[in-house]
Amino acid sequence: MADRPYIVGNWKMNGTRAMLSEARAIDRTSQRVMKVEVALAPPFTLIHAVHREVEQIGVGAQDVSPGADGAHTGDISASMAADAGAKFAILGHSERRQDHGETNALIKSKVESAIEAGMRVILCCGETEETRDEGKAESFVARQLKSSLPETLDNADEVLTIAYEPIWAIGTGRTPTVDDIGAMHRSIKALLVDLYGEEMADQVRILYGGSVNADNAKELLAADEVGGALVGGASLTAESFLGIVLAA
Ligand code: PGA
Repeated sequence: MADRPYIVGNWKMNGTRAMLSEARAIDRTSQRVMKVEVALAPPFTLIHAVHREVEQIGVGAQDVSPGADGAHTGDISASMAADAGAKFAILGHSERRQDHGETNALIKSKVESAIEAGMRVILCCGETEETRDEGKAESFVARQLKSSLPETLDNADEVLTIAYEPIWAIGTGRTPTVDDIGAMHRSIKALLVDLYGEEMADQVRILYGGSVNADNAKELLAADEVGGALVGGASLTAESFLGIVLAA
């Protein structure tokens, strides 16, 4: 596994050109914190502008449509996002699953399209609170991943990252215990070993996401199994996001 922690900001449906100064500030500080790999996923409308503003950090998309370019009004393909400067795509985020009815099968086709376009995929998974209370979180997440991951994988470190984001922790200020995060990450790792073998699985970073902030980042990211964080709300200002980067 790449040993640098990977800290990714997801701006969600936020951001106009006024926010480019935040991206610039994040980039400037990240140039001095080489022990952390930093990335931002602005909305589609800002990908190209952020890409032009920054030198060090990675820029990505929050989604892509599956398949080839063509007659699909309102959609953005992986190759179009890549052309705008996106090096990665966040796929299968729970807000896409909930707000747009995205299924594991659809997510799998997006994963394949993004990889084909040369992007790294950050594939999100995570359970509801009810599923966790029933003691079924690990089997639920394993099912999500099994049905959305590609059959084969080359260059895993460049192509695939997993983000474990319990739905009940996103934007709520609540987080799982460090032990629960560690247990889920080990379970995901075991699944990856099953699917792709030990050597390939070792190269896939597994991030934690859900209410990460500058105050809890150090603790949440301390476990060996945790390869970094996917950050929503706290990535919207350079000050709060850099607090996490510096704690990682
Ligand atoms: P949050 O969002 O940090 O605001 O909880 C995380 C995410 O949805 O990726």
